[in-house]
Amino acid sequence: MAYNSNNLWRSNTRLTVLEYCQKKYYFNYYTNFLKDIDEKLRLDGLLLKNLKSIEMRVGEKTHHLLSDYLKLMKKKTDSQENINKLKEEISQVMTDDFNISKNRDYEAWYDRNQKFWLTEHYYKLEDTDKKLQEAIDKVINNLDTFIWSERHDKVSRFFEISQSVYIESPKRPDYDNMRIIIDSIPELMDVSILASPDFGAILWDNRFTIIDRKSWKENMNDDSVPDQIKVYALKMILKKWKLNINDMDIKWYEVYLPSLKVNWWQITQQDIDDVIQKIINDVNFQKQFIVDEDVTRNVPIAQKNFHRTTSAKKCESCTFRKICDDLKNFE
Ligand code: SF4
Repeated sequence: MAYNSNNLWRSNTRLTVLEYCQKKYYFNYYTNFLKDIDEKLRLDGLLLKNLKSIEMRVGEKTHHLLSDYLKLMKKKTDSQENINKLKEEISQVMTDDFNISKNRDYEAWYDRNQKFWLTEHYYKLEDTDKKLQEAIDKVINNLDTFIWSERHDKVSRFFEISQSVYIESPKRPDYDNMRIIIDSIPELMDVSILASPDFGAILWDNRFTIIDRKSWKENMNDDSVPDQIKVYALKMILKKWKLNINDMDIKWYEVYLPSLKVNWWQITQQDIDDVIQKIINDVNFQKQFIVDEDVTRNVPIAQKNFHRTTSAKKCESCTFRKICDDLKNFE
């Protein structure tokens, strides 16, 4: 089955949102169904789902910059001149996006071609202008930190000795390539499961090293393998058309920037068995929110059955707080 945007999707992000607040999950993933309540709510919802905070943009742009840099490394064109060009480009893109966001008339009718950028502009938060240069500096510093790190030397070595190397292209996601081929598990037929690490190297047959960069809160629980890592590992195994890890060697590294803290794990068969069961449980949980549990139609049940969180703290920073309040007028 090719990637189908209408089918139910399962991803760690979706599950995190669903567990965070069911109403937020509805706003984010079933926005168009708001038209049955009020067209203005739908259009506002489409606008809000495109907003991100400056801090989230720092993570996103770091991702883009590192991906472009790794591609230079792969082609052996990572000269200082080309690195400077990448930095100039990302600074310009961030400045342009910031100005588009700042000058946008957020009261105007929703325009799908309009770029929406910052939550800070939409909610008119103070001192937003000051944050642009700080954000650009953070992104560039993340690249410099990586370039001067020991991890950089290891990645450089992977380019020398690997059979093949995978570098994610976050600016132009290839959903078919990101999809985990999991039709061999009946409960997951027709569910789109997407996962894509930042960088992977096949060192020799059945030996994989995968690196995923993080800029969020550091995972202090170093002992247990995070679900996201297990899902990526499952993808690698399914690509080899088997569900047995015994003759494979998968090492997974999580690298935080700018701290350079590194977590790593050797993936075991138990991790794979656990994550398959976890995905089945997650999908069954998601199916409770769609009509007839039909993953191919993926129509949500009535929005009133998506409950609001009771945590005021979660609402304070929620992108959807405007329409969440507006919706109360229709309830
Ligand atoms: S404002 Fe609060 S209740 Fe409403 S969607 Fe956001 S997190 Fe959920």
